[in-house]
Amino acid sequence: MVNKSNYNYLLSDLSTLKGVGKKTVSLLKKKKINNIFDLLWKLPKTFIDRSLSTKIKDLRIEEHQTVTIIPQKYNFPRIRNLPSRVLCNDETGELDCVFFNSYEGYIKKILPLGKEITISGKVGRFRDKYQITNPKYVSEDASIIKQKHNTYSLTDGISEKVYNKIINQIIINLPILDEWHSKDILKNFDNISWNDSVKELHKPENIGKYKKNFYQRLAYDEIFSTFLANSEIRKKIKKIKKKNKIINFKKQKEMINSLSFILTKDQFKTLEEINNDLSSSTKMFRLLQGDVGSGKTIVSLLAAYNTINSGFQVAVMAPTEILSRQHYSLAKKIFPKNIKIEFISGKSDNKKKRKIQKELSLNKIDILFGTHAVFQKKITFKKLGLIIIDEQHKFGVNQRKKLSDKGGDNCDVLLMTATPIPRTLTMTVYGDMDLSIIFEKPKNRKPIKTYSKLESKINDVIRFIKKEIKNGNQIFWVCPLIEESKKLNHASAVKKFEYLNKLFPNQVSLLHGKTDINHKEIILNRFLRNEFKILVSTTIIEVGIDFPNANVIIIENANKFGLSQLHQLRGRVGRGNKDSACILLFKSNLSENAKKRINILKNSNDGFKISEEDMKIRGFGDILGFKQSGIKNFKLADPIHNNDLFLMAEKEIKRIEKSKEDLRKFKALIKLYDRADIINDIA
Ligand code: ADP
Ligand code: MG
Repeated sequence: MVNKSNYNYLLSDLSTLKGVGKKTVSLLKKKKINNIFDLLWKLPKTFIDRSLSTKIKDLRIEEHQTVTIIPQKYNFPRIRNLPSRVLCNDETGELDCVFFNSYEGYIKKILPLGKEITISGKVGRFRDKYQITNPKYVSEDASIIKQKHNTYSLTDGISEKVYNKIINQIIINLPILDEWHSKDILKNFDNISWNDSVKELHKPENIGKYKKNFYQRLAYDEIFSTFLANSEIRKKIKKIKKKNKIINFKKQKEMINSLSFILTKDQFKTLEEINNDLSSSTKMFRLLQGDVGSGKTIVSLLAAYNTINSGFQVAVMAPTEILSRQHYSLAKKIFPKNIKIEFISGKSDNKKKRKIQKELSLNKIDILFGTHAVFQKKITFKKLGLIIIDEQHKFGVNQRKKLSDKGGDNCDVLLMTATPIPRTLTMTVYGDMDLSIIFEKPKNRKPIKTYSKLESKINDVIRFIKKEIKNGNQIFWVCPLIEESKKLNHASAVKKFEYLNKLFPNQVSLLHGKTDINHKEIILNRFLRNEFKILVSTTIIEVGIDFPNANVIIIENANKFGLSQLHQLRGRVGRGNKDSACILLFKSNLSENAKKRINILKNSNDGFKISEEDMKIRGFGDILGFKQSGIKNFKLADPIHNNDLFLMAEKEIKRIEKSKEDLRKFKALIKLYDRADIINDIA
């Protein structure tokens, strides 16, 4: 018996449902539907109204209809693969029921001769006669059939009938949960309960009613639960007391003055925010967000310098060896000689690793740069005061939390990301962190000129490249991404490489999905040292790396990329002080809509604006690969369309944080919406 006030029913395994066998369970699991709760969010796409039955003469071809007939005659062919037919009629005409791959016995059972039977299915016409092939609903009791049925976009192998049955069963057993929202919040949704909302959600007539209270409430539940989890993590981190750092502003100023450029206003502002955190007695957990090329590295290195001057060690991690080495070289260049700087990667030999381990534990190294190797178990810092993580936007909430724990209580954490995403998404994805944003880019930047060109005009492009190479410049050539086939990707890149290599002998190198990591880094390093001119690649060139000498990027089949991705790719060039260009190649003339999109890119160099537009066009899920990043996707909520709900949730969270309310009332919400692993204190 289902306990009606308990959410556990919703978390139970699919096999507890009546009429659901092993096969169905495994089919659903493939679709990441693991428990009853997951099933609730698979929404009906359309519905078929079987309540109106028709006479045979009034049947409409190609539509799903319900009709009451009397079976008259069976026709079971002796030849395999031919369908069985049952001739049926009513007082207005004749109709064949056609069955492929069905047993005689079964057909005779569901369509007994001479009995009045109601059937339902899609009507066709064959040799001047109406027919229904494999009728979906067949019954002697017309009332059973004459209902509305939802159609779902189904997993192969599960019939619509079974699916409707399952959903109906769940709806009937839906627990009545205690309300978790405050009265003020509920008012916004006409006080509808969670339970009633789910019921409404599955009613055929409510398909697509996104503005209705039930839909909004359920979307809000998703947003709010995510924000609540984020808030709990933040609170927990904020509770950690640490030894505050004492900033030496004189030294900071000396370093700033020694730079070859003047910091932007936003660089100063974000540095100050970070410094405030460093010198406070609570742990920092902060994200530094800024578009490609906005100058985050120097801000983080200044923070590192301040930390070191306060007697602590610093660890700086980047996703690739080459990016990490760039940070390391920069530090070598700008830090005074007395500061001990080291670098470690998976490739460092054991002797070197052991030496670093020893020196770190004796506090003889001030700052360690590296890849994931920085966080190997064996590596222990004597006095770690700051962890800086660059370009790890694929780190999920859990990974970040672990990281924050790893450094120990005295260790502040600074993450950096170049993925400018709209605020609603930032609150969702990074809501557990404090946020510093660099909006303003360095002034000396020349805008990257963006062009679109038809592939048939490739000769123009080649001519352009020749000129650039003559002027000592380098070029990125990004090959089409054919998502469906890695093989094709590879082939097209190889072909392009061969084509270009003929035109520019020994000036071209190729990177593709199969290039192993070591080889990749060798090629990238050779490109950095200007040892060849054109880098052909399929994979997206690593984020963050500075290629000051590359000033042209060519992107083939540009319509395969989202705007944000194109913007990120484009950000590989234009970091130096040369004129730079991004050429987008298209196979055919652009549609009006595509032109509009590309114009956004041409007219703006503001990643935040571009990503917002991109989301409006493509939806938020796919943006910059967040889908693969393990970040929970909303089933109903949408950062663009539900902007108001996001703001409402943000306000409510702030209120709750201040009010010190008992959070146990959110237990069911948190358990159901799958964040329990993060805030098990509530649960
Ligand atoms: P990102 O924010 O993408 O990590 P970087 O920190 O790599 O950007 O900076 C990109 C380039 O801009 C680097 O070559 C850096 O030296 C330069 N840079 C950073 N700040 C400024 C500034 N205020 N003025 C001019 N150039 C700057
Ligand atoms: Mg960077």
